[in-house]
Amino acid sequence: MSFILKADSLVKRYGDIIAVNDISFEIFRGEIFGFLGPNGAGKTTTIKMMSGLLKPDSGKVLLDNSNSKISIGICPQHIVIWENLTCMEQILFMGKMYNINPGEVKNKGIELLEALGLTGVKDRLARKLSGGMQRRLNIALALIHSPDIVFLDEPQAGLDPQSRLLVREYIRTIKNKTTVVLTTHDMEEAEKLSDRICIIDKGKLLCIGTAGEITTNNGYEDLVEIDIEGDREKEFLSFIDKELCPTFSISDSRITFNSSNPAALVENILKSARENNLKIKSLQMRKKSLEDIFINLTGRSLRE
Ligand code: ATP
Repeated sequence: MSFILKADSLVKRYGDIIAVNDISFEIFRGEIFGFLGPNGAGKTTTIKMMSGLLKPDSGKVLLDNSNSKISIGICPQHIVIWENLTCMEQILFMGKMYNINPGEVKNKGIELLEALGLTGVKDRLARKLSGGMQRRLNIALALIHSPDIVFLDEPQAGLDPQSRLLVREYIRTIKNKTTVVLTTHDMEEAEKLSDRICIIDKGKLLCIGTAGEITTNNGYEDLVEIDIEGDREKEFLSFIDKELCPTFSISDSRITFNSSNPAALVENILKSARENNLKIKSLQMRKKSLEDIFINLTGRSLRE
């Protein structure tokens, strides 16, 4: 698959802080590429370097060499709109700046406002829009010129569930024409929206791939979680067949096993509890999530 953009050993420092610490990856044409990481991970700094807004201290950003130029769109994390223009006026104004034919801009504007649920407020001044509407207008303005690649920094921030769905569905429809790079710290959103995900933390790339690849490359897919009564977790572990659960973690009274054979492990757990007079308060089986992987890789949760 051909890349549209390639980051090669990017480094950015702000004084003593290494915001981005030797990151390399490729973004393929026509994909939705999601940067996932906690606050301060270095997502925005990476996006700024890729879009040419910030010069790396070292490393470089390479363009697909079949193109000498690519057009880009940027939707920054902080909303940038003209408060005293209506939604449609901003679209026409942006079109003028990109030197696009007014008829074409108007049609594109109608399409974008419709897709992003703003048709009903197309003639409302931006300052009179709700925060979620302003966010969606911000996204529309980044796409007015149908760029080859668009950078969306936290496009879902502050959106209600219906608006999230609208934005997600629209992003999916444009990806064949416009490669999409987005940032988020919402794991569920990253998984739903992105074809490939890159998890970063403290300026370092931790892993990259589809959600499925990330899951299978980081231990087994299945987790079995049990809560034991009476501070007897360690004792309980001594009775369990270790071959069925080579890795596990304990948090409070909960033991989480990562198993290649969850059904056999559950049988073994129930048998061990019965034979050793241990009481299981709860037991559940589930698929490993990106959050589990993030905690495994960094030893802390994204929300901390
Ligand atoms: P968030 O999810 O909170 O937006 P992020 O992953 O986008 O976070 P960045 O904004 O790239 O993270 O910040 C990475 C690190 O660089 C942080 O420690 C931040 O404080 C620092 N940083 C970012 N911009 C500047 C700046 N202009 N001057 C100094 N430090 C900065």
